[in-house]
Parts: sequence; structure tokens; C-alpha cells
Amino acid sequence: MAQLEDLYREIILDHYKNPRNQGELPSPPAVRTEGHNPLCGDQITLTLLIDDNDTIADVKICGHGCSISQSSASMMTAAVTQKSISEVRELTSSLKAMLDIHEQLFDSNSAESGRQTDVSPANERKLGDLIALQGVVKFPVRIKCATLAWNTLLQAIDDHYRK
Ligand code: ZN
Repeated sequence: MAQLEDLYREIILDHYKNPRNQGELPSPPAVRTEGHNPLCGDQITLTLLIDDNDTIADVKICGHGCSISQSSASMMTAAVTQKSISEVRELTSSLKAMLDIHEQLFDSNSAESGRQTDVSPANERKLGDLIALQGVVKFPVRIKCATLAWNTLLQAIDDHYRK
């Protein structure tokens, strides 16, 4: 388990040190949405371009905040680019389910038992590298850092279809 945690830490650190898809797309045509996590002070500006086939053509982020929020944002951009909106919604709910499961366990049990929850194999396949983020649930206050980019993405998708 320790080795796995090292691997997770490496994935997160890699995205923190070498963030993917940084910057801003011209808006319009991209939608521009801002996200904020007041608990930690994390801030993210997300620009999103959805093509006529309801696929994410491009997404860029810029912002500042803790390593979890920025890594998660980078991982999000890498995971959703060129995916259909329905795939992205599915992926987002898998990720949130993974984090929520832990959050609930944390509330009802001792900290120790909240650490080890099985993610279903199907979800694990879907999540890929994103599974590394499950490490943050050891620090419940960090869950909002990890989900910030994803909530901002969902908001941006809504903004796009409201246009
Ligand atoms: Zn944070």
C-alpha cells in the first residue's frame, strides 16, 4: 500500500510541477468560468470549447492555490479533452463518488477506517490516473480542493448550453 501511495503522490506532484493545458482560450468562442474554494483560497479560471458534436475540443485553466487544487485541475484537463460531454459527466460522477464515499466514511467512523475503501473495478478503469486523488480523502478539508476544477467544469458545460 505504501508503494501505491508513493505512486499516487508522484502522479499528483507531476501534475503540480508540470501542469497541463495552462492558459486561457479566446472567449468567445470559448466559455469562461471561474471557480473558487473559499475554505482554502484556491482559485481557477477555466475556458472551455465544446464542438458541434458535443465533444470537449479544448480546455485550459489558470489559477492559483494549493497543490491538490492545481494538480486536480491539470489532471482534469488531461482526462476530459476530446471526450464527449456524456463521458465527461460520467467520469465526473465516478470521481465524486470516489471522494464522497471516503467523506461519508470519515464522518461516521474513525479516521483510520476511512482510508481504505474499495473503488469498483469498473470505476477504477474509468478513472485511470485520477484514482491518485483518492489519497486526498485522508484530509477531508482537501476534498473541496480536489473537486474544485471538476465543479467548475460542470458549471462551464452548463454555461455553454445556456448560451
Ligand atoms: Zn486547496
